Amino acid sequence: MAATQLNNFRGDMKYNEPMSRHTSWRAGGLADQFYTPLNEEDLSELLASLSAKEFLFWLGLGSNLLVRDGGIRGTVISLKGSLSEIKLLDEKKIQIGAGASCAKLARFCSKNNLIGGEFFAGIPGLLGGALAMNAGAFGGETWDYVESVTTMDRQGNIYQHKSQDYQTAYRKVTGPEGEWFVSAVLKFEKGDGEKAAENIRQLLHKRAQIQPTGLPSCGSVFRNPENDYAARLIEVSGLKGKKIGGAIVSEKHANFIINENNASAADIEQLIYFVQRQVKEKQGIELQTEVKIIGEPG
Ligand SMILES: Cc1cc2nc3c(=O)[nH]c(=O)nc-3n(C[C@H](O)[C@H](O)[C@H](O)COP(=O)(O)OP(=O)(O)OC[C@H]3O[C@@H](n4cnc5c(N)ncnc54)[C@H](O)[C@@H]3O)c2cc1C
Repeated sequence: MAATQLNNFRGDMKYNEPMSRHTSWRAGGLADQFYTPLNEEDLSELLASLSAKEFLFWLGLGSNLLVRDGGIRGTVISLKGSLSEIKLLDEKKIQIGAGASCAKLARFCSKNNLIGGEFFAGIPGLLGGALAMNAGAFGGETWDYVESVTTMDRQGNIYQHKSQDYQTAYRKVTGPEGEWFVSAVLKFEKGDGEKAAENIRQLLHKRAQIQPTGLPSCGSVFRNPENDYAARLIEVSGLKGKKIGGAIVSEKHANFIINENNASAADIEQLIYFVQRQVKEKQGIELQTEVKIIGEPG
């Protein structure tokens, strides 16, 4: 258990919090401390009060995350329900907190006649997670729209960075180390908001046709290798429907692993490595995980 003295915090601190409540796979052990800040200042104060040795993990909606069954020895900073304000700065620019959901961002854009951000509608995470992952879909990627970001380090200090301070690629972002995102300025094009709303409906419909949406998963488990698709490689390796414990490779989209029946994080992790080994053996390609795997074994 982390030994942090918290005197003046105004957010919500939970102890021994099951991470299965905060990951879309609905699996994972206990986090020692689980903090939802009231606002940016509160978060900064909390961070300044933590020991320099404390393990810190920033969480969005846990939609790209496997937390092992032994949980997290340290403090999770959860932005769900916090730092979620979105406002227009001018005709094309918006300021958005890292705790705003991607779905809210897409709706905000269409309501304000901004186009380009429709793809965010189907990404079931928060802006912070989308910035960290360079989340994307249907040809759009988060960092295509970033002008600048505000970050915080583990002492609670705030920094401003231009998007040029980051190198971004497919599901990959590198930039200033030891800092996490608290907000961003995004820039879109002016356009027809009603068309954008229609586009959102179509993209969500298309997604529901090709993905097992609504079931506990983490979306695509593996990154697509260059010039190929992880789903195709998994499917031709005959792995659709493969089960370990309560986890199963989706029959609908082979790059999805579903928590079908109270899977433990260990079931899911073993299935990930099984798929990786089989694809390597049968197709000669080593798939890399897109999902982040953290925490202690159970
Ligand atoms: C059904 C389904 C469909 C999906 N479809 C897509 C898709 O089309 N495209 C796509 O790209 N992804 C997709 N995903 C994966 C996932 O939604 C994205 O990666 C998303 O951006 C993760 O956001 P999150 O808030 O859930 O992040 P989390 O899973 O909570 O965290 C992911 C990583 O981001 C880091 N992080 C979170 N917040 C911050 C912060 N404020 N500052 C710094 N680092 C932070 C975490 O530490 C972790 O390393 C899908 C997932 C599901 C379940």
